[in-house]
Amino acid sequence: MIEIRGLIKRFEGKAVTRNAVDGIDLTVPEGQLVTLLGPSGCGKTTTLRLIAGLERPDAGEIRIGDKVVYSSDDHVYVGVHQRPIGVVFQSYAVWPHMTAVQNVMFPLRSGQKKLPVPEARRKAMEALDLVGLADLADRPAPALSGGQQQRVSLARALTREPEVLLLDEPLSNLDKGLRDRVRDEIRAVQQRLGITTVFVTHDQDEALAVSDEVILMEFGRIVERGPAQQVYARPRSEFTARFMGISNSLPGSVTTCGDGLADIALAHGELRCVAAGELAEGDRVNVFVRPESLSLSRKDSTGRGWKGTVEFSIYHGDCWDYHVRVGDTLLRSRIYKEKVGLSHGDPVFVSPDEETAIAIPAGAGAVG
Ligand code: ATP
Repeated sequence: MIEIRGLIKRFEGKAVTRNAVDGIDLTVPEGQLVTLLGPSGCGKTTTLRLIAGLERPDAGEIRIGDKVVYSSDDHVYVGVHQRPIGVVFQSYAVWPHMTAVQNVMFPLRSGQKKLPVPEARRKAMEALDLVGLADLADRPAPALSGGQQQRVSLARALTREPEVLLLDEPLSNLDKGLRDRVRDEIRAVQQRLGITTVFVTHDQDEALAVSDEVILMEFGRIVERGPAQQVYARPRSEFTARFMGISNSLPGSVTTCGDGLADIALAHGELRCVAAGELAEGDRVNVFVRPESLSLSRKDSTGRGWKGTVEFSIYHGDCWDYHVRVGDTLLRSRIYKEKVGLSHGDPVFVSPDEETAIAIPAGAGAVG
């Protein structure tokens, strides 16, 4: 449904050393929700704005459905109002002097459409119903909560019956509880309508929750892509592993490997890991272990635990994070128990779960 080839965007300026979008190839299949995920400044929003026609690329090609909307080779550029898209911004962009339904009707009454009021209102009410706001249709926009205003802006984007929905950090201005509710609402509406969607976020949890596919970006390029479960459980680059919250990383080298597994010699002993990509004996790797895959015990029942000392603990309500020094390395172990009873200075044995530890070639996925 969306095809992007060799997309490049450069902003001119004295301090600019790289392209904001640096040669992106991307396919979003029909009916799928794809997230562009990455740290601030990696080019997510610019990519979305290029798809929307809110920025003009320097090179490449963008196709939406069977229509080329931008091609540097063929000198094609279709403006934002002619693209079959609906856009939702972080800032809602809801007009304060209108009610909810007037906001949603606005695009239907303006531009080329100019529908008569009764038809525009009927369509607007359908869209408000879809986002669960029909009851509040006649409420002035300023009297709606942030989450409700964002749903108005989603309804407004949907009334144009776009082929593609583009969402730029739509949840960032909402507080935590509301963010989860609106996130679920967006995913529910997207799946119900089967609308092809690109969703920009810097929040990995949000990306995992809503995506069919996650695209990880760094420095204007795509570092990794895949279904949410794959990017979470089997990252192939160090950048992805860290970005997806695998905070424990241990350098080592491959002793044996095969069948997707590898034995890795680490400073504290040998560990069997899942191999990310092709590994060979002697390769330098970093082993990534999720905090929840690192267990702690006072006794070394397996004889293979790593000796460590508790440095400090952090309580999160449903779990504890224990920071444990093992040799020169500070590791984080997450434990889902009400009471663990370890404190600063306590000796412990640390055991990584071999089924989830991942060995990634040192430097893999780095964007220069
Ligand atoms: P964030 O999560 O902070 O919004 P992002 O990943 O969406 O970040 P972009 O907003 O796409 O990143 O920005 C990519 C790069 O392009 C950044 O270095 C940014 O400073 C630069 N940039 C974006 N818009 C402009 C602009 N209008 N003029 C100059 N530079 C820009």
